[in-house]
Amino acid sequence: MNVPDIIIAVDGFSATGKSTFAKMVAKEFDFLYLDSGAMYRGVTLFAMENGLIAKDGTIDEAALKVVIDTLDLHFRNEEGKTLLYLGERCIETEIRTLAVSSYVSPVSAIAFVRAYVDAKLRAFSEGGRVIMDGRDIGTTVFPNAELKVFMVADEKVRAQRRYDEMVEKGDTPVFEDIVKNLAERDYIDSHRETSPLRQPEDAYVMDNTHMTLHEELVWCLGVIQGKFLLYEAPSLTW
Ligand code: C5P
Repeated sequence: MNVPDIIIAVDGFSATGKSTFAKMVAKEFDFLYLDSGAMYRGVTLFAMENGLIAKDGTIDEAALKVVIDTLDLHFRNEEGKTLLYLGERCIETEIRTLAVSSYVSPVSAIAFVRAYVDAKLRAFSEGGRVIMDGRDIGTTVFPNAELKVFMVADEKVRAQRRYDEMVEKGDTPVFEDIVKNLAERDYIDSHRETSPLRQPEDAYVMDNTHMTLHEELVWCLGVIQGKFLLYEAPSLTW
């Protein structure tokens, strides 16, 4: 039995493992994976590289507004990975730095930035059978998503995971900087006026503090089986 053609919205605080979970589910059940945070990071990188964010963090909103609709941010699938491109340039590495992380929440709080990203995300999802992660997917981007997951995890565990991830990529992060960045982003993301981070009322909550990836997958399978009344569980490859 197969998982039906649905939209799965995955939301939650920073570094709760949303993208790892969503990528795993996409691979297992053959869904398109879309990382909405990458789009906000892409807009932020563009603004930084074009002098639209001052050293003190002030954003030149008027200038950004003039150019935003000309930004050709899109995903390309390469060797099973979904990578973000700005025009012909792959910006997947550049958007994951702590510098981008430190400016992305104020940029993503701007209403016209959210409108730009929302429109792109909906257009990319037109074929359906999509799993998308972010902060407002189940509340704003796809309020009618057939399955909504809200992920939570202990703060220290989240920071440690992000730290390990950056070290693995060859960075030399300071643990306290990551803790601070996560706390700041969570605050801004859940207090902004436009589409603040909220747990959708109809979401299934997963606390993965003590879960392995395989347990997350089995959890997801159980939810899908129960929600869509699949008498036979979709089979797992691992
Ligand atoms: O998911 P990720 O940590 O890469 O997202 C980066 C930032 O983009 C978040 O901290 C948040 O400010 C913003 N974001 C958002 N809405 C989304 C996804 C991400 O505001 N749907």
